[in-house]
Amino acid sequence: MTRCRLCGSEAMASVVDLGATPPCESFLAADQLDLPEPAYPLHLRVCTDCWLAQIPPLITPEETFKEYAYFSSYSTSWVEHARTFVAGAVERLGLGTDAFVVEVASNDGYLLRHMVERGIRCLGIEPSVNVGAAARDAGVPTLTEFLDPAVGTAVREEHGPADLVVANNVYAHIPDVVGFTRGLRALVADDGWVSVEVQHLLTLIEENQYDTIYHEHFQYYTVASAIRALASGGLALVDVELLPTHGGSLRLWARPAETAGEPTRRVAEVLDREKAAGLRELSGYTQFSARVAKVRRDLLRFLVEAAEEGKTVVGYGAPGKGNTLLNHCAIRPDLLPYTVDRNPYKHGRFTPGTRIPVLPPERIAADRPDYVLVLPWNLRDELVEQLSYVHDWGGRLVFPIPELSVVEVASREVTA
Ligand SMILES: [Zn+2]
Repeated sequence: MTRCRLCGSEAMASVVDLGATPPCESFLAADQLDLPEPAYPLHLRVCTDCWLAQIPPLITPEETFKEYAYFSSYSTSWVEHARTFVAGAVERLGLGTDAFVVEVASNDGYLLRHMVERGIRCLGIEPSVNVGAAARDAGVPTLTEFLDPAVGTAVREEHGPADLVVANNVYAHIPDVVGFTRGLRALVADDGWVSVEVQHLLTLIEENQYDTIYHEHFQYYTVASAIRALASGGLALVDVELLPTHGGSLRLWARPAETAGEPTRRVAEVLDREKAAGLRELSGYTQFSARVAKVRRDLLRFLVEAAEEGKTVVGYGAPGKGNTLLNHCAIRPDLLPYTVDRNPYKHGRFTPGTRIPVLPPERIAADRPDYVLVLPWNLRDELVEQLSYVHDWGGRLVFPIPELSVVEVASREVTA
C-alpha cells in the first residue's frame, strides 16, 4: 500500500479502479503498431487523513513531458481563457511594466505572450523541449526545466523575485507536490502572489468526469486538500474562484504564509460546499465507482446499437482524457473507426491502447457520419457551435459525460 504523498499517512481508501492503460498522450506512429505497449494501473485512492485524492506515481513527468503532444494554442477557447486571466491578474494585482511574472509549465507561451504584449517582463519554465521551443519562437522567454526548490532559487537569483507566479494546469501533474510547492515559494516575492489553476475534485465527482483521471494527473484537489498542499511549501490560500474550465476548476490565490492574512469569505463558502458533498468523509467518494460503471455501460450500449443498425460513428478530438475513456470502455476501431483532431502532431498516429487512427478534422465533412462522438466534452459549447455543420447532413453530436447525450440540433438536446 502506498503512503499519502502529502501527509505520509497509510490511510488510503479506494475511490475508483480503471484497470491498466498506456500513458494517455503516448500516441503511436504507424511503425509502432507491431510493438508491445506497456500499460499502467490507474487506481484513484483518497487519503482519509488529509483528503488528497491521488494515483501512484508510476510514470515520471520526465517520461511524459520531454516531447509533449499538447500545444495549448490549438484550442481557441484556451487562448481566450489565458487572455482574460492576464487582463484580470494585471488589474487585480496592479502589475505595471516594472513587474516580473513567472509561469510554471508555460507550454507554448499561450499565456505569457499576453504579458509580453503588455510590456511586462516575464519568464516561462517549461519542461517539454519541443513545446518550449515553440514559445521561444513566439517571443516568450522560456527556460527548459522542471520546477523544484533549486530551480526556483536559481531563477530568483538570476531574475529577481516574482510579483506573480502562475501555475495553471500543472499542480496535478507533479508527483513531488511538496518539492514543487517549495519551488513556487522560492520564486515568489515575500509580498507577491501565486495563482494556481487546477481541476476541482468536487465537480469531477459530481459530474462523472472520471476520464480526467489519467497517469499525468497524480493528485486531485478539493480546496481543503489544496490548503494542506500549499502549506507544505510555506504558502497560504487567500482567495478562490470557481471556473468552468476542464469541467470545473479552482483558481487559488495564495501568498507566502507570513504575509497572507485572513482568507476571504469565498474560501469558507467552497469549503462548506465540499463538506456538504461529503468530501470530508469517505461517503462522498464511495458512490463514484458505480456511476463510472454506468457511463461505460451507456456509451457501449449506444455504440453497439449504432453498429447493429448500420449507423456510422466517428470521434471528434484526441485529448488525453479521451484515451482514459476509450481504454476503460474498451472501444476499438470496430466501434469507432477513427477520430479527428486539430493538432497536426497527432495526424497519422493512433490512440494509445485502443489504436484508433487520428485524422485531420476535414475528414468528417467528407464522410458525413451519422454520429460524431465528442471526446473533449469540456469544450462542449465551443464544439457544438464549431461542429454545427454535422447537422447539414442529419448527423448528430454525442457527448459521453456527465451522462450520454445526443444533440439533435444545435439548440435542442435529447438525453439518450
Ligand atoms: Zn494525506
